Amino acid sequence: MQSLGTRRVYHQNDAVSTLPLYRSAPPLEVRLEDFEAFAVDRLRVLKAISDGLSRGKKPEEMEKLVEELWKTHMKQPKLSEAGNKDVISHFVLRLVYCRTEDLRKWFLSMETMLFRYRFKLQSPEAQRALMADLDLPYKAVNTAEFESVKDKVSQVARSIVQPPPTEDAKFYKVPFEEVPELVASRRVYIHQGNAYVAMNQVVSLVVTQFRSFLSKALILTNRKWTSSIKEQEKDRLTPIVEELSTSYLGPDYSQPRESAEISLKDIDHLAKSSFPLCMRHLYEKLKEDHHLKHGGRMQLGLFLKGVGLNLDDALAFWRAEFSQKVGAERFDKEYAYNIRHNYGREGKRTDYTPFSCQKVISSTPGVGDHHGCPFRHFSEENLRAALGRMGVGNRGMDDIIDKVRNRHYQVACTLTFEAVHGSTCDAGINHPNQYFIDSQKVLQSKLLEYMSIKDAEETIILLANISNCEPAHHVKQKNF
Ligand code: SF4
Repeated sequence: MQSLGTRRVYHQNDAVSTLPLYRSAPPLEVRLEDFEAFAVDRLRVLKAISDGLSRGKKPEEMEKLVEELWKTHMKQPKLSEAGNKDVISHFVLRLVYCRTEDLRKWFLSMETMLFRYRFKLQSPEAQRALMADLDLPYKAVNTAEFESVKDKVSQVARSIVQPPPTEDAKFYKVPFEEVPELVASRRVYIHQGNAYVAMNQVVSLVVTQFRSFLSKALILTNRKWTSSIKEQEKDRLTPIVEELSTSYLGPDYSQPRESAEISLKDIDHLAKSSFPLCMRHLYEKLKEDHHLKHGGRMQLGLFLKGVGLNLDDALAFWRAEFSQKVGAERFDKEYAYNIRHNYGREGKRTDYTPFSCQKVISSTPGVGDHHGCPFRHFSEENLRAALGRMGVGNRGMDDIIDKVRNRHYQVACTLTFEAVHGSTCDAGINHPNQYFIDSQKVLQSKLLEYMSIKDAEETIILLANISNCEPAHHVKQKNF
């Protein structure tokens, strides 16, 4: 087992706060497998925060979400272990996300958001301790000064439907440009360039400081990464770091679920009811052209394997289409090998995994290719037409297009799922095969519901018939 470094991790503010400020990388001893596993867990939290934000969750919902995510992914049996995991995972991801402008921007926003909600969940003593640790250069407003601004501060409180401040309320006087969100939402009284910030608004101050510190730290980490770490760690940490920012964190879907086999005759109706747009498009193109280029064959072929199409049926499926264009003989010679290869029956005999959304979205289809993610690769006009064919109405369509314009492709796909199925998908869509499985679950539960209604209706008709011609005691024998 490899370990990194030789010293123990310390955890700041153990006495009162469970929220570290990540000022400097701790001297630590960490096993290589924890280095990656801790980072993956934190990444799950950050990605879910990003998803929650792009779905427009309200601050109260975000607060609850962050609390749950933290419990689910970052909890450890002992408090000290949880603290170490927190610090280690932050610094590993700092390394992962320092490497490009886009990565830094994303990490900075998500870590700041995480810090904001975790700060709010701290006790008032812990919050004060963190403020002291941050060395915020703001003094609490003294009683005499507070009396002079009390009326104005109360007016602002009333305007945002907050109770007026009590005699012992604590306020901080802060240059107004340091609390931009409070100023923008008119939640503070400003006088002579200073904002009067109440203790319960202090999160804004702390977050501004945290963000600015982390932003500088990411630039410094990037310098160290490019000047030394990348080369020094090229055989050990560098591959892990480079892989982490693009890694897919869900199940691999390489094996169909037990009891979930699909047969050739099912594909057509499943394509209409449960395929995500990327696969539906490939399927339609295959039916239209009787051909798909390599990228499309891989994307659709592995997806079909993941949903439960066995090798024999896969060969029959592709042969039926391709032979119409290139003839059965040429299909057997040139294309069948690839299909067997996908199922691990040729070459290195690797059992290939269906592509995740991340992989599909980051592909670069060329002219004549039909693979890729329509939310990313279609023109707006084509996307609107394709969504319309899936049954998405005008209102849902505008929300989806709005997400696409902001480059939230998976959120757009999640909204599509919800519009088409009339059912929520809280986990968001991360994998085309997950879309399929979730769709089948929704459709099956609707079918069961329908059958029980039908059953009840038939029973009612039966009861009505019985009650029309027989004594009432017969009716009671039917058990609901
Ligand atoms: S978001 Fe994922 S499932 Fe949806 S269309 Fe794009 S690649 Fe397919």
